Amino acid sequence: RKTSNRKSGSVYNPNMHTYLKETMLSEMNLRRGLDLNEFQLHYQPQVNCRTGEVIGFEALLRWQHPERGLIFPSDFIELAESTGLITPIGEWVIREAVKQISEWNKMGIENVTVSINLSPRHFLHHNLPFFLEQCIQEARIKPQRLVLEITENVAMEEQSAVTSRIKLLKEMGYSVSIDDFGKGYSAFIYLKHFPINEIKIDREFISELGSNMQSIGIVQTIIHLAEMLGLRTIGEGVETKEQWDILKQLGCSQLQGYYFSKPIEVNQINELFHKYGR
Ligand code: C2E
Ligand code: CA
Ligand code: CA
Ligand code: CA
Repeated sequence: RKTSNRKSGSVYNPNMHTYLKETMLSEMNLRRGLDLNEFQLHYQPQVNCRTGEVIGFEALLRWQHPERGLIFPSDFIELAESTGLITPIGEWVIREAVKQISEWNKMGIENVTVSINLSPRHFLHHNLPFFLEQCIQEARIKPQRLVLEITENVAMEEQSAVTSRIKLLKEMGYSVSIDDFGKGYSAFIYLKHFPINEIKIDREFISELGSNMQSIGIVQTIIHLAEMLGLRTIGEGVETKEQWDILKQLGCSQLQGYYFSKPIEVNQINELFHKYGR
């Protein structure tokens, strides 16, 4: 009774109406935002774990909405994925990151990498390799400057498609990184099947490093395994000196986190380059 009531009544429920209107609006907004160039990339430094020297950046997407202000990916990536807009948005991210690398080249900063996040759907899109190639040729940059991050939850059913895509992109000169490593339940299966270059150790393990012996053990195991497989490791979400010290002792290759810097606008990055040089 109740269920059927709710169903038939939902059309007239004013909250529901607002809800529908808002979600429909945001899909339209998302497309409009893309067309009007309202997206931005913020960059978070990645440092060498031993020396603290900046060796690259992760590009993180932001949406500068004219009324709502700065919107973070957690508020629109899902919608972008479900509507398929994630592929054109991802292409915008690639183009923008490549443009930035080329601008840094002109400033004489030629040795930093830029990591970008690709949704599983876009990662498997037939046009991705061509699109990447076209962008880097136009901008005259080397594929070695780009790291492609995919999350651990790329569909396991598509394992063979993912494996051959990773192989192709690596042959083309790009690096491939597994994001949020350890967050899923079958993390090690990915290592067995996917010929990646880099593992990003999930923030959850890093945040517990000072207080939880199990986390130290897990991170140590991940780093040892990565070493045996010849993979780089990045500790994500490093917020304290203590976490840095532990990760240094465990032999992690790179770090990223608020301890070093939040994701910031490119202007701020360039100011730092001017101040400290390269
Ligand atoms: P992610 O790829 O795991 O990115 C790291 C997130 O952790 C970023 O959030 C970053 O701001 C945050 N973070 C970095 N250091 C710290 C720290 O020390 N402490 C804490 N608490 N957080 C830290 P952000 O920028 O809100 O991005 C969230 C997620 O959205 C990303 O997680 C990624 O999965 C997704 N995303 C971001 N940009 C893109 C994009 O261009 N394309 C796609 N498909 N997804 C994106
Ligand atoms: Ca990432
Ligand atoms: Ca991550
Ligand atoms: Ca994540």
